[in-house]
Amino acid sequence: MIEFKGVSKTYQGNPPAVDGLSMGIERGKITVFVGPSGCGKTTSLRMINRMVEPSGGAITVDGRDVSTVPAAALRRSMGYVMQSAGLLPHRTVNDNVATVLRLNRVPRSQARRRAAELLEVVGLSAAMGKRYPAQLSGGQQQRVGVARALAADPPVLLMDEPFSAVDPVVRAELQQELLRLQRDLAKTIVFVTHDIDEATLLGDKVAVFATGGRLAQYASPEEILRAPVDDFVAAFVGRDRGFRHLSFSSGAGVPIRPVDTVVLDPALPHSMAGNSDGWTLAVDARNRPMGWLPPARATGLVPGGSLFRDGESLRGALDAALSSPAGLGVAVDDDGALRGVVTAAEVLAVIEAGRQLREGGA
Ligand code: ADP
Ligand code: MG
Repeated sequence: MIEFKGVSKTYQGNPPAVDGLSMGIERGKITVFVGPSGCGKTTSLRMINRMVEPSGGAITVDGRDVSTVPAAALRRSMGYVMQSAGLLPHRTVNDNVATVLRLNRVPRSQARRRAAELLEVVGLSAAMGKRYPAQLSGGQQQRVGVARALAADPPVLLMDEPFSAVDPVVRAELQQELLRLQRDLAKTIVFVTHDIDEATLLGDKVAVFATGGRLAQYASPEEILRAPVDDFVAAFVGRDRGFRHLSFSSGAGVPIRPVDTVVLDPALPHSMAGNSDGWTLAVDARNRPMGWLPPARATGLVPGGSLFRDGESLRGALDAALSSPAGLGVAVDDDGALRGVVTAAEVLAVIEAGRQLREGGA
C-alpha cells in the first residue's frame, strides 16, 4: 500500500539521515520502524505524509506518488500521533479530538458526538471531553492523541514513539489497547519505536534501521528474533532474544500435571492448612489459585509466581514455572480456575522436541 522507492534524505551539510530506503508497507497491518536513536526512523515516517520532503527517490500510497498530492490534504488523510500527545493546551479534549473534523467542515454538533464516541473507543469516559489536556495524566493524553488521529477515520495511522514518555505499566496498557483497537479497525499503521520489545509485540512486520538510515532487516518479529541477518541486528535485538522468541511458539503442547490442593477460606488464618510432603497449592472455593503452602508449613501462604493462562505461549509457560516458589507453574483457564501445573523441565522438553522437528524437516 505504501512503497518507499530508493528514498533518501540529506539535511543540509549532514551525512544522509535516510539512504536509499526501499520497502513496501502492507495494508491493514502494523509495520514497526525500530532502531537506535538518530537512525532516520522519524525522518522516514514524516516523508510518508510530506512533513519532510525526500532529497531523492519516491514514496507512493496506493500507487500514487505522494509528491503529487497537496501536502495539507495528504496530512489530513493520515492520522499522526507523536510522543508528546501534542494537544492544544487551551482547547478542551473534545475540541482537540474534533480538530480535523472541523477542518473537514463537519458540523459542530456532529463533531462533538463523534469526539465522545472516539474517547470511548480509546478507553476514556466521554466526561473527559470537557477537561483540558493539563488535567489529564500522561497516559490519558496519549489516548486522546490516538482518538484525535482516528477522528477522520483515516486509512493510515502514523505513530512516532507514541508510548515512550509514559511509565512501563501504562505503556503496557496502551500497547494492549492498540492491539485490541487494531483488531476492529484494521488500519495501515506505521509505528516508530526504539524499543525492540515494543516492536516485536506490536509489529506484524518489523523494519530494523541501522545508523545512517540503512534498512538492516525487514521481516516478521518471529524471524528477526530467530535469525537476525547481521551482527548489528543481533546486538540490537539483545541477549534475551532466545527467550523472547518463545513468545511465538504455542504453549499448548506442554503437559499439565495434577497438583495437591487445599481449599482455603479467605476469612480464616492460613497457617493450619495443607498436609502433604511437597508443596500444596491453596485455592479458593471457585478453584482459583491463592498461593503456595511450603512443605514445612510454619510460614503460611507463599505468594505464587506468574500464571500460565490457556492459549499463552511457551514463554508464558516457562516464566510461570521459573517464577513459582514451588518450581511448578500454575496453569489456569479463561476464568482463572486451576487446570494443573507445568514444570520448566517439561517446557524445555517441548522446546527441544520442536527444535529437532525443525532440524529433521530442514
Ligand atoms: P530517529 O527518529 O531514528 O531518532 P531522525 O529521523 O529524527 O532519527 O534523525 C535522523 C538523523 O537526521 C539524525 O542524525 C538527526 O540529527 C538528523 N536530523 C533530523 N531532523 C533534522 C533536521 N530538521 N535538520 C537537520 N538534521 C536533522
Ligand atoms: Mg525519532
